[in-house]
Amino acid sequence: MNKNISIVVKQDLCVGCGTCVSICPEQCICLCIDHRKGLWIPHIDENKCKSCGLCFKVCPGIDADYTRSIPREWHSLSHHPAVGFYSYLALAFSQNENIHTNGASGGLVTDLLVYMLQKHIIDGAIVTIMGESPQYCKNREELDNPALLARAVIARSEDEIIRSQKSKYCPVPVGEILSSVKSETGRFAFVGLPCHIHALRKWQNIDSKMSEKIPYCLGLFCSRTPNFHATRHLLYNRKIALKDVEHLDYRAGEKNLGHMNIKLKDEKIKEIPHLSFDYWGYMFFKFFMPYRCYLCPDKLAALADISFGDNWTGSWDHPLGTSTVVVREPKMLAILQEMNHKGNVCLHDIDLQTLISSQDLANKAQIAPRKKICDIFGKPTPEYGNLHLYSDIRTKSFMTFVKALMLFTRCKLSNNNKNYCLLNLIGKLFFMIERISAKAMRTFHVVLNILKTIFNMLFCLIPVKSSVSLKKSKYKMIMMGGYGSKDIGDEAMPHADILNLKEILGDELEIVMLSPDPTYTQKTHKERSIKDIDYLGFSPNSGIRANLGNVRSALYGFMFLLATSLSKKGIHLKLWPAARNVLNEMISSDIIFNVGGGNLNSIIPQELYKKGFIYLSAKILHKPVIVSGQTIGPFENTIDRFFAKACLNSVRLLTFRDKEISHQRCREIGVTMPKMYDAADDAMTIPVIEKKTAKEILLKEVGKKWHELESELTVAMNFKSSLRLFRRRGEFADLSRECQLMAEIADAVVDRFKAKVVFIPTDYCSGVDDRELHQEIINRVKNKKNIKAFAGEYDDIILKSLIGLFDVVIGSRYHFCVFAASMLVPFAGIASGIYQQTKLKGLADLCDLSQCFVKNDMEFATFEDVWPQIEWMINNRDNIQEKLKKTVPSLKKKSLYGVKEAARLLQQK
Ligand SMILES: Cc1cc2nc3c(=O)[nH]c(=O)nc-3n(C[C@H](O)[C@H](O)[C@H](O)COP(=O)(O)OP(=O)(O)OC[C@H]3O[C@@H](n4cnc5c(N)ncnc54)[C@H](O)[C@@H]3O)c2cc1C
Repeated sequence: MNKNISIVVKQDLCVGCGTCVSICPEQCICLCIDHRKGLWIPHIDENKCKSCGLCFKVCPGIDADYTRSIPREWHSLSHHPAVGFYSYLALAFSQNENIHTNGASGGLVTDLLVYMLQKHIIDGAIVTIMGESPQYCKNREELDNPALLARAVIARSEDEIIRSQKSKYCPVPVGEILSSVKSETGRFAFVGLPCHIHALRKWQNIDSKMSEKIPYCLGLFCSRTPNFHATRHLLYNRKIALKDVEHLDYRAGEKNLGHMNIKLKDEKIKEIPHLSFDYWGYMFFKFFMPYRCYLCPDKLAALADISFGDNWTGSWDHPLGTSTVVVREPKMLAILQEMNHKGNVCLHDIDLQTLISSQDLANKAQIAPRKKICDIFGKPTPEYGNLHLYSDIRTKSFMTFVKALMLFTRCKLSNNNKNYCLLNLIGKLFFMIERISAKAMRTFHVVLNILKTIFNMLFCLIPVKSSVSLKKSKYKMIMMGGYGSKDIGDEAMPHADILNLKEILGDELEIVMLSPDPTYTQKTHKERSIKDIDYLGFSPNSGIRANLGNVRSALYGFMFLLATSLSKKGIHLKLWPAARNVLNEMISSDIIFNVGGGNLNSIIPQELYKKGFIYLSAKILHKPVIVSGQTIGPFENTIDRFFAKACLNSVRLLTFRDKEISHQRCREIGVTMPKMYDAADDAMTIPVIEKKTAKEILLKEVGKKWHELESELTVAMNFKSSLRLFRRRGEFADLSRECQLMAEIADAVVDRFKAKVVFIPTDYCSGVDDRELHQEIINRVKNKKNIKAFAGEYDDIILKSLIGLFDVVIGSRYHFCVFAASMLVPFAGIASGIYQQTKLKGLADLCDLSQCFVKNDMEFATFEDVWPQIEWMINNRDNIQEKLKKTVPSLKKKSLYGVKEAARLLQQK
């Protein structure tokens, strides 16, 4: 026998969407308010039910397996486990002031519906209005006040659509309107929450007519729909009797987020700010979550053609509100772009990480612990299938479990509880407990860390037997630098140095490379590699935690220096493993060679302090230190300046890869002891492969069609993904603005110079892989035929050879431009932030081509700002090449300065 939805109700999995009411051919289902739960619940007349099972088939409560409902065509779209499928992400607001002001966020949903209605794309829209009870409602007489209820309607005019604006934070059985839609003629758009849309998709799966009737599905983000107790509790708290409410708007007011607006029958108006304690500030957010919402993994309405939410990114906020938009269906994207083109809406692209962090998606997707808790309490849970959407980000950490348990408890306490006075007390108690426990946890962690550090340090001071490494060749060098993280430009520097050193010293030289990833470094450079020292770096952040961490690093640093001094007297301290290993290797080495990386600055204090302590340790051991191919500074505070001065004064030679800037910064902080020299980047001398082989690789990457395109110019471009991390010192920054700029530049070179363009990545490090942002750029360009992006990974030799095949390059990565210059290819370096700018300006100055550095910072520059310099570079490419022919040979020689000095010092021994 087919099931009906009574089983779903019994299991407490009903979301109250109302779709079962609509699909029932016997009309034996209607809606009742369950006053205990504060939800709409279907009531089935079992005598009339023919057990056809249709209600069960469209029920979204019984399962959360979206895989079955995702359109096949979406499988070619981008996908992330926390987001599902998507083709475009943006912040946006309507340019229609009335709609914008009246909307919950940016008024986008309504603007889109109105536009589609005006263009006759739809004949009406299913939207939701406040102040009316649902059509198929059984216990109508038991309802306190219809002003507090909402129902779905079919809006056929602009006015009706606009009147339905704003979010309704109470249960709305939107699906009950579908029975009316069945008998209507025309095409409709549907606006609903994730569960409403899940139900509609299920219906469409079994009835293609419903797909024809409703070809457009607009979803709202939803973390939960508070049950009726939420609003009632708020009214109780504000001493407003239910019967006195004339009208209620959950999101009124002109300001972003706005306030709840309660119009009383005596004409008085009460305004409750959105983030008040009894509204979304605490109670709506932490309590009153229906059981099924607790188990829902879908915040973004993953099955909607397009979804909308508030803007929680903290940026690009319009005073009247901004929406976050996730587009999936191409036809929806086309409409949105058309509206943008016509100036109806204002769009601002965002990247995936911004969406995930701003909407706290990783948290919503923590279904595993929630399900576990329900299992423990013997509560039924929906069928998740393989939870295709969110499977990758389930964590099993203890804290996630505790958080899930707290939420479960709060739901339990508030869902069946009409004693609002008690709930108020419970809410306040939870609020207090949360605040106190958060503070207590923070203090506990700090104390624990301090105790752990003291204990570790005492442990490190234990004397041990000597385990100094033996020297295997005549000369031994410790090499350190900014390599080891799949940034091929950074790997090119030690690579070139190793080749040049071996050419002079042959097998007599043993190199030990310090690396964050010794396995990768050993594989890449075929030299022995050991783990670089940890614990010595300072934090780039501020605040008590960071400062305490810095004190800890300083103590470890002094202990490392103490151990170095004692080792000269034959006393060996245990230290921590990486430090002991490095010290053992240093004691038996002849020289320390620090190649590459612009790590000596305040922007990456992790590296400045780590490297500095090693220089000081080398000085104690009387080992010469050569610091080759550096960009030094800027130093932003007294401690960094003082430390950098002390460390740099202990090295033998400092070579720079810019003209005067680094040298000047060293002089400013009082560095006078080492020999200092404006040289060039060590990677200048990396060898190349045969042109024919390089061409074959290029063909493989770009395909025959691109290769055979007629063009007057070939351009290689690159965008530095790691800016994401550098921009905000460790936190992910949104780079969509820069992606747009790069896309516009790429389109302009195609349009104005008949060019073909390829984006070539040089960093493959997970999280900051250039290829991810290159793909975002490609998504934005108009000339998709002419503009391609590399997918493969290549080493420095191949990358340099490939870049050498192009007429010009435009890049935001320093080594991308170094490779170009050393291949005599004209370049335009376009950077963001003072550190990147120093490097790219340095390269341009050294080549005597200062115009090849684009002066405007990418973060703020518009296309109009940067284009004149890029255009100049392309127009003058022949002259630039002539200049490179003159300057590059001498730069290549200069780049060997550090290597030659190291070899000289070793041979002198
Ligand atoms: C219960 C609920 C929870 C939400 N949770 C989040 C969240 O956690 N994070 C987030 O960023 N955004 C959330 N939103 C979405 C957000 O509040 C806005 O609705 C969304 O940004 C659209 O704003 P807009 O200005 O573009 O829409 P508007 O132009 O104001 O249009 C809103 C449309 O949604 C319809 N609608 C309103 N309420 C409902 C409802 N309950 N059921 C079905 N349709 C409805 C209206 O009829 C109207 O057509 C939630 C919305 C709701 C209703």
